[in-house]
Amino acid sequence: MLTEHQTHFSRRSWTEIRLSALRENLRIYKEHCRAEEIMAVVKADAYGHGAAECAHVLAEAGVRLFAVSNIIEAIELRLAGVKGEILILGYTPAEQLPLLTEYDIMQAVVSEADAARIAEKAPEARVQYAIDTGMNRIGLDADDPAACEAVMRKYPLNLCGMFTHLCVADTDTAECRAFTRGQIAKFEAVADRVADMQLPYVHCLNSAGGLWQETKYNRIARLGIVMYGLKPDYANTLPEGIRPVLEWKSVISMVKPLHKGETVGYGRTFTAEHEMLLATVPTGYADGYDRLLSNRGYVLIDGHRAPVVGRVCMDQLTVDVTGLDVEAGDEVVLLGQSGGETYTADDMAQQIGTIGYEIICGITHRVQRKYL
Ligand SMILES: *Cc1c(COP(=O)(O)O)cnc(C)c1O
Repeated sequence: MLTEHQTHFSRRSWTEIRLSALRENLRIYKEHCRAEEIMAVVKADAYGHGAAECAHVLAEAGVRLFAVSNIIEAIELRLAGVKGEILILGYTPAEQLPLLTEYDIMQAVVSEADAARIAEKAPEARVQYAIDTGMNRIGLDADDPAACEAVMRKYPLNLCGMFTHLCVADTDTAECRAFTRGQIAKFEAVADRVADMQLPYVHCLNSAGGLWQETKYNRIARLGIVMYGLKPDYANTLPEGIRPVLEWKSVISMVKPLHKGETVGYGRTFTAEHEMLLATVPTGYADGYDRLLSNRGYVLIDGHRAPVVGRVCMDQLTVDVTGLDVEAGDEVVLLGQSGGETYTADDMAQQIGTIGYEIICGITHRVQRKYL
């Protein structure tokens, strides 16, 4: 075990998580969505922001419902003292089903076979049926609402809800709008058939759905990405005031001149075409800084953009600081704001063909977290 002194905060590579921004994003989102209640999605360690820390702040702000991806995440929240409802959105292996009642956690039922399994192994556990309305990932097939109803009535489960997941609610094209309307209609058809069960938790909206879609089952929105201040899709415009909760920072470890004709890094993928100034930053792909950003991404230093040159290494990367007045120890913004410049996880994602979700979930535990 390392001592507290050995593990105390070090200025190598760290995220700064502004919990006040999380609270503010929640407040603004609630003003813009029709849902009366928010289910805060804190899976994947709250998209890299720290599940327990975020859940506590959200609970203080009045959130009573939480969602995670699996039972380990759910138990971690309970052990951290989170009192609200916790729903596991995905699969739980048979041997862990008894833990659901032990920790008072709600479980998604992903299929009829899963219903049979849970009825046998954990009949007391509170469950919610996943309904598949077109994503084809988990759930009872809503194309046959009578069959869904039959399954929902057949198994002796402690049933307390049902939900579906929209897969193009963030995309504003005629085709996607029609598909989402179809998903919602299919969900409503199943929900209507079991209306007599008076399930307390009937929900179908994610971040995007809560902002832009209409349904009569809109009491609860499952809020993920927008709460963290990022966009479901790069083309989206978020409500005014919503901003990223997380910034990612590092420092310059050394500065050196790079002479014309010299190359940088593994594979010698960058060649100086003129005299340059190069800075090394002690953050790499083992920290979650994607290697696809090699010769493509940039960092912010004192309000300036410094392009990544050469390949991102496991623990370090190199940036072009030609013309900047910098020295070892200076702060480098990998994600966030510096002077008038902003570079968000959405911007970074756009450069390498992915989504902001993957960028923030990909920041590894080697990167220390600092809560502001
Ligand atoms: C992750 C997830 C969400 C949250 O989605 P966002 O786009 O981040 O709002 C909601 N519902 C389900 C089932 C999910 O898996």
